[in-house]
Amino acid sequence: MSEMPHDADIAAADGITPMMAQYLAIKSAHPDYLLFYRMGDFYELFFADAAKAAEALDIALTKRGRHLGEDIPMCGVPVATAEAYLEKLIRKGHRVAVCEQVEDPAEAKKRGAKAVVKREVVRLVTPGTLTEDALLEARASNILAALGRSGGSFALAAADMSTGRFEVSAVAEEEIAAELARLSPKELLLPDALVNHGSVGESQSDKKIDFKPVFAALKIALSPLPAARFDSDAGARALQSHYGLLSLDGLGAFGRAELSAAGALIAYIDLTQKGRKVALRRLAKVQPAQFVGIDAATRRNLELDQTLSGARNGSLLATIDRTVTAAGARLLAARLAAPLTDVRAIAARQDAVEGFAADSELRRKAREHLRAAPDMARALARISVGRGSPRDLAALRDGVKAARRLRDDVADLRGEAADAQAALTTAIADLSRLSDRLSFLLVEEPPYLARDGGFIAAGAHAPLDELRSLRDESRRVIAGLEGKYKTESGVAQLRIKHNGVLGYFIEVAGQHADRLMANRDLFRHRQTMAGAVRFSTDELSTLASRIAEAAESALAQELALFQEMCALALEHAEPIAAAADALSVLDVAAALGELAVAQRYARPKVDDSLAFHITRGRHPVVEAALAASHSGPFVANDCDLSPEARGRLWFVTGPNMAGKSTFLRQNALIALLAQMGSFVPAEAAHIGVIDRLFSRVGAGDDLAAGRSTFMVEMVETAAILNQATERSLVILDEIGRGTATYDGLAIAWAAAEHLHEENRSRALFATHYHELVALCERLDKAACVTMKVKEWNDSIVFLHEVTAGAADRSYGIHVAKLAGLPPAVVQRAEAVLRALEEGREGHKPLARVDELPLFSVSAAPPPKTSAVEEALRAIEPDALTPKQALDALYELKRKLSS
Ligand code: ADP
Ligand code: MG
Repeated sequence: MSEMPHDADIAAADGITPMMAQYLAIKSAHPDYLLFYRMGDFYELFFADAAKAAEALDIALTKRGRHLGEDIPMCGVPVATAEAYLEKLIRKGHRVAVCEQVEDPAEAKKRGAKAVVKREVVRLVTPGTLTEDALLEARASNILAALGRSGGSFALAAADMSTGRFEVSAVAEEEIAAELARLSPKELLLPDALVNHGSVGESQSDKKIDFKPVFAALKIALSPLPAARFDSDAGARALQSHYGLLSLDGLGAFGRAELSAAGALIAYIDLTQKGRKVALRRLAKVQPAQFVGIDAATRRNLELDQTLSGARNGSLLATIDRTVTAAGARLLAARLAAPLTDVRAIAARQDAVEGFAADSELRRKAREHLRAAPDMARALARISVGRGSPRDLAALRDGVKAARRLRDDVADLRGEAADAQAALTTAIADLSRLSDRLSFLLVEEPPYLARDGGFIAAGAHAPLDELRSLRDESRRVIAGLEGKYKTESGVAQLRIKHNGVLGYFIEVAGQHADRLMANRDLFRHRQTMAGAVRFSTDELSTLASRIAEAAESALAQELALFQEMCALALEHAEPIAAAADALSVLDVAAALGELAVAQRYARPKVDDSLAFHITRGRHPVVEAALAASHSGPFVANDCDLSPEARGRLWFVTGPNMAGKSTFLRQNALIALLAQMGSFVPAEAAHIGVIDRLFSRVGAGDDLAAGRSTFMVEMVETAAILNQATERSLVILDEIGRGTATYDGLAIAWAAAEHLHEENRSRALFATHYHELVALCERLDKAACVTMKVKEWNDSIVFLHEVTAGAADRSYGIHVAKLAGLPPAVVQRAEAVLRALEEGREGHKPLARVDELPLFSVSAAPPPKTSAVEEALRAIEPDALTPKQALDALYELKRKLSS
């Protein structure tokens, strides 16, 4: 089957060989991709591709032949293990074009000795178009997005090829960044003009939005395409042909920008899959307003799906994730990324969680069956692009089986779980033919590759059984022949063996060869080895070829059945997707129920009011961290920003490390959890739906260390003041800290006023500027709270308790002392502080500070213990003889005088 490469194929001394001509033609059609050029059992890379791949993969770069007088650099990866190499290349930002031999080399030979085997690129591998488990994270989505535009309108389409999820939303220009943050795509298609300019404005006069920082922050791989690919008419046609529709009316009404985005996306998938049709779901139209608006900076600050250092552990998602299936984990992540704004939809999710939270037996049973459900959506996606395996078919079989058990075993589900169960029941009914067929045909645990067969169960297919028994019977006969030939030859050590080159043969040691040679009528000599001689017989050859033929036919039969099962699975794509969806919804609901019970979460009341009343709320991640390290309990705190409460804008003061940031974040996280449909870490909560959530951390705060500059802080603050509404929740943590005291204070002051008077949002404002406390009295809907601390023995203890009022001082020096600053520095700082504070009432504070002696005597380090003291301490009187005691006395006297 395979064509072995020879140097001469690649480059001849007298110029370009036909094979090199073929290679160069294919390569020039795919300049942006590393070309995996199939040669026999390897994918070979040449020229610059080879150098790049060898470096990225850390494999040897070799040479092969010459081209235009130069050596051709080459490296290769075995086809059998190519996935691992692909994964590495993709992760390092490369894209790969996979070029296969598309005809049998024997066919090529017929065209002449020099003819080259036909090759074609069968697939482009890009970050957003992966389907293999080895290339994907099981519990994370892999989104490909496309930014389309038409006139001045924009739209974002997003698809997860590995599961079939497909959606599009019309977005305003200023919403693009936040929508991208919600979707968090791995790869973004966009008109190349936008990349070159880094902004999306149509004309020179348009307000330009600079997307480069957004793309960089989200680590999206950009795939710029010519503007023509975003043509909306072409987009409409691409959608029609994908779904096999005569008109798009059945899908819903889409604007031109949406058609542009969705069409470009479908065309790109077709391009990368080289026409293989991916089983995408029906295109869903979503509106950004369905979800809480959360920009990228807010997501980062709140550490929703990863911590500031990029780890999943320590994020909110990792803390709340109790799902037992990969699909459930993906859904949970998607929901946390996009909390809802519709009160009824939120309630339907909460009802489902409540049902599971209320009944531990129900929860246990459901989770047990879910655990047995494989990832059907990803299996189906692989089958649809022709990369399915017998295991994927088994995944569908086992998925339906688990779904059936779940349906039979759990009842009385509520809210969206009840809907999911109804959908599951319908899907199971629609899938009965498929699951019967798969159960009947497949062995319990099929091999990973279809190529070698062995996945069709015995007894499932009569012709296959016959071929197999022919094969096995012949093997038995051969085994019997061994005894017969031993007798005939009189060589007891005679063996019948098998290898890939000779097939079956008889082998005897060299010294016994003559005995077989003597019986030429029966034994034909085949091969003489060092120490062994090999023979065959007519009977053995006949049996061997019968086995080979039977095995080949059996394999062909199995492969035909494999194709039949794949086709059947694709006919059932819709109910499979529906069942997979329903299972993931049930997994999420049961997992949130489990979380609610295990962590004592309560069902929040979510309505259309402007309430924000949290009773004894906790920070889910900090609480879990404290529990894990046995560092004492988390101190719960109330927060009430409701209209009838003291204020909708709270100034939170208190020393560093007192818990201000924690308090701010816990309230934001509780709001997000509530609106994603989860229970919340609080005794009770009443939240009027939040339309947008903003969270900012002042430059210089530890959280933003190294990434935030004052400019960024101000740009972000500006965005809040421009965008926040009465329905928004705003968290400002030490804004204005990145600059000198007075202008920082001035900015914080003005921002707070604007937030209170104009935006009228519910807001928490942590600040170390005590001066802002004066604002509380001036603003009627503002209140001051502070983190309680206890002064104790000239030190402070953080109680982490929020109380009314303001901190009277910042305790910075206390904190510095706790941190282990040298005592001399602490004392000096106290003196400087006193001088500054006295100066505040008078004038020129710095003059007063100048008058202070540098490191006054009192601040001198305490004296070391004396040698006499040390010697005295070492003496144990009871252990001394009178003579020793006298000696010790003399010694002490001597030390004193030295
Ligand atoms: P601040 O912003 O006031 O400097 P942080 O919110 O960063 O303080 O809190 C500092 C540390 O105090 C946290 O890392 C956490 O370990 C602890 N802490 C904060 N709030 C609480 C609380 N309510 N209960 C228990 N520990 C808390
Ligand atoms: Mg802080």
